[in-house]
Amino acid sequence: MVKVLVIEDEAAIQELIRFNLNKEGYAVLAAEEGIRGLELARRDKPDLILLDLMLPGLDGYEVCKALRADKATARIPIIILSARNEVIDRVLGLELGADDYMIKPFSPKELLARIKARLREQNRNISSDTPQKPIHVSDLEVWPDNYIATLAGKPLNLTIKEFELLHTFVTHPNRVFSREHLLQKVWDYDATGDTRTVDVHVSNLRQKLQEMGRSIETIRGVGYRFAAGAGK
Ligand code: CA
Repeated sequence: MVKVLVIEDEAAIQELIRFNLNKEGYAVLAAEEGIRGLELARRDKPDLILLDLMLPGLDGYEVCKALRADKATARIPIIILSARNEVIDRVLGLELGADDYMIKPFSPKELLARIKARLREQNRNISSDTPQKPIHVSDLEVWPDNYIATLAGKPLNLTIKEFELLHTFVTHPNRVFSREHLLQKVWDYDATGDTRTVDVHVSNLRQKLQEMGRSIETIRGVGYRFAAGAGK
């Protein structure tokens, strides 16, 4: 059974989420504050976490950081629920390793669609058991089956979205992708979504790729391109 952890202090929103998720057959765990949320995440290993940003005590940013820093919870998809729609808040959440965000108030239908999209990725990740060969780009190795990438033999600590971006790039060397196309391909959004999401993830990915990050070139006014053979 799919387990979703909801870390949200507003009882009405928590209830709304619980009701709609239960209806879909998901088990729902809930916490009203950050520390408790972290405990439940570590203890129960949910399949996905819905994380409110404005929480009493430890806030959503801190929780997100702690989840990503802990090996046991580092790869659980996180969708941030934000009441505030200032870009900076969302960007910060994504920088701390969240996979997606939703602005409150949201429709249960939209929330379910996002949850399913994230779970589908996670399943692709877990269920494929025929080992494939990694994709090599100089020092970089990308293993599509288990969402692992290594650089000079050392694992890169990528989030699922960062991995999918990287995978998209290395499987389409030299191709120019628009932000909208990446948003659609990697996040399953329609092209009207916020393309800042793409920029933040590309920026995180570049950092983690160190020198090789330079291979991801910004194409002004369009988007990005992975330049094959560069970044050595
Ligand atoms: Ca709140």
